[in-house]
Amino acid sequence: MLIAGALVSGTGTEIRGYDPATGQTLEPGYRYGDDTHVAAACAAAAEAFAAYRATTAEQRARFLESIAANLEAIAETVVARAHAETGLPEARLTGEVGRTTGQLRLFAAVLREGSWTGARIDPALPDRTPLPRPDIRQRAVPLGPVAVFGASNFPLAFSVAGGDTASALAAGCPVVVKAHDAHPGTSELVARAIADAVTAEGLPPGTFSMLFGSGPGLGTALVTDPRIAAVGFTGSRSGGLALVAAAATRPEPIPVYAEMSSINPVFLLDAALASRGADLGRAFVGSLTMGSGQFCTNPGLIIAVDGPGLDAFLASAREALGAAAATPMLTPTIAESYAAGVTALSERAELVVRGLAGNATACQAALFTTDASTFATSEVLQAEVFGSSSLVVRCADVDEMSRVAAGLEGQLTATVHADEADHDAARQLLPTLETKAGRILFNGWPTGVEVGHAMVHGGPFPATSDSRTTSVGGRAIERFLRPVAYQDVPTSLLPSAIADGNPDGIWRRVDGELTRD
Ligand code: NAP
Repeated sequence: MLIAGALVSGTGTEIRGYDPATGQTLEPGYRYGDDTHVAAACAAAAEAFAAYRATTAEQRARFLESIAANLEAIAETVVARAHAETGLPEARLTGEVGRTTGQLRLFAAVLREGSWTGARIDPALPDRTPLPRPDIRQRAVPLGPVAVFGASNFPLAFSVAGGDTASALAAGCPVVVKAHDAHPGTSELVARAIADAVTAEGLPPGTFSMLFGSGPGLGTALVTDPRIAAVGFTGSRSGGLALVAAAATRPEPIPVYAEMSSINPVFLLDAALASRGADLGRAFVGSLTMGSGQFCTNPGLIIAVDGPGLDAFLASAREALGAAAATPMLTPTIAESYAAGVTALSERAELVVRGLAGNATACQAALFTTDASTFATSEVLQAEVFGSSSLVVRCADVDEMSRVAAGLEGQLTATVHADEADHDAARQLLPTLETKAGRILFNGWPTGVEVGHAMVHGGPFPATSDSRTTSVGGRAIERFLRPVAYQDVPTSLLPSAIADGNPDGIWRRVDGELTRD
């Protein structure tokens, strides 16, 4: 483990990386930490907070860029280790390094641009009647040390130096990561890259720590440590809810930003199906089987009106999926829970096709169909199956399709395939989709989340525990900030973001108007 710049060995359970492609365990072993390690990491983070929060946006931007440069310098080693620990293709992992460094640099740009500060100034109106107005200024400040739970399925982009870590560090919050057991060696390499950047930039060592340990044990201890001010999590619904519950029962409850469960409905509208049903079937299979379906945005639900277009979609999907090779899943546990999920679906829905079989830890793709009324009354059919499994809901007409949409749980994404002639139907569907999903996309597939200023990777429960924010994209920084108003604070004491003369040169809302003056 890495606690405030020092490498520390735990005394608990020893874990090793596991190569899902070969079934081999990998050296070295890593030992779980215990409550004393949690306390040490949190104490160091709390101690670092005062100095770290006082850094300028430019200093933090350079720190994030330094982490990105360090990751690029070890990219080949990291990709090789992550490939061995996850079975994910090297090309995909190389892309993930780029995405991870891109996220870090995006937050550097966000910091320099400055509107993350939420700077507002309502100048004093001493002559206002009946009461004068005081001088009130507002800016955002960091919450405090953040606990981050890395995900299994993105060993880089949603893990030790992933989006939660990048956004928390950008906000001015020290980070304590609970590494995921599925890729300990990758986690070590990335943690060292961050620690080197902490040293190089002259930041307090407690700005970053990384621990190994069980979720219910060390993970819960981390979330309930009084020095932790917020939590970022990506993983299962049960894991996310356990952390939400742990945080809520603390003497001082804290926010948990958990990204959990989504089946990502895809609506195929009539004209689109009629004009390109077979093409859609093939493209769907490409999205469904990518990365063994281990994406939180995997298209697990297709909704369409019965007819020749849907038949053409199913025929081409059947052909493509029937020839899809079984590919390794991240861990034996994930493979087991995928197999159990597919069995549960097969007991309640009609099988369209299975992909090619593989070994016990490989993902054999699966596609099912059902009708709208069976779907509406079955919790099992509406539950996420993590892997390349999907369900097609056949609807009698557009109204039934709308009712299926209205009955859905919250989702990360909702996709619509629509031709020009479908736009009236799409217009009717859109208000419902806005209540259900964090991202609505047309004529594409939900896998692949662009990292940018406008992206939302979030959505109503159970997609996340807090639908007001995003875990991907520039706005993710807002999760780890809170607004403070400064009333009649002497000019010489004001932070630069809200000081007279706009020394930072940022956009500010002055008397209600956005200005850079
Ligand atoms: P996970 O089991 O939720 O684990 C994520 C992290 O949370 C791990 O560090 C885990 O520690 C911790 N954790 C899990 N349960 C906890 C609890 N009750 N209390 C405290 N901490 C807890 O997710 P995963 O390993 O990424 O995937 C496993 C399953 O999650 C899959 O089978 C899949 O069904 C589902 N899933 C994952 C994702 C994703 O984006 N990763 C998306 C959808 C579904 P431990 O490893 O020690 O438990």
